[in-house]
Amino acid sequence: MDTLRVGVIGLQGDVFEHMNALKKAFIELGVQGEAVWVRRPLDLEKADGIIIPGGESTTISKLLSTFDLRSILKKKAGEGAPILGTCAGCVLLAKEGDRLVERTKTELLGLMDMSVDRNAFGPQRESFEAPVKIEGIGTYPGVFIRAPLITKVWGDCHVLGTFRGRSVLARQNSLLAASFHPELTDDPRFYGMFLGMF
Ligand code: GLN
Repeated sequence: MDTLRVGVIGLQGDVFEHMNALKKAFIELGVQGEAVWVRRPLDLEKADGIIIPGGESTTISKLLSTFDLRSILKKKAGEGAPILGTCAGCVLLAKEGDRLVERTKTELLGLMDMSVDRNAFGPQRESFEAPVKIEGIGTYPGVFIRAPLITKVWGDCHVLGTFRGRSVLARQNSLLAASFHPELTDDPRFYGMFLGMF
């Protein structure tokens, strides 16, 4: 089997944490994979799947354009490459954002049929860990840091995970958006689900 190349968009945010969690998941799940820190268009072109990490969606969005990664990301999504966006990455995958997204003129990738409410769970100091219900996994430890909420899905986009009845995980074909941070837990099941999409 060929080695799976998973690129982590490495412009801002918790890139290192995703790189580490991916490497750990490859070992624990017995997947022959390589985690690639992506800054150059060529590295993005070569990736079989992509992770857009948490951080600051406004900043990551600007840098995606500066580093010429935006159009390649969209092309990859169109080709069916699995893409996971966590927290800020979840915001960027959405087609619609709330007033804060509009006010900050954040250019979303607009790949998933969903609306998001940025910072819906309050500021950084109100970060918390709580059980999330995920279809196909069950209860999973969700780490929420200034997390967005998925307020609406339509078309081919479906809710896969909830916290207290509210949507925090959605999937649309090969695209997966989580408002929480799977890279900050020791539980490999979430990466198992993502790697199962390849
Ligand atoms: N609230 C941040 C944003 O929308 C995301 C926070 C995070 O990724 N931990 O950019």
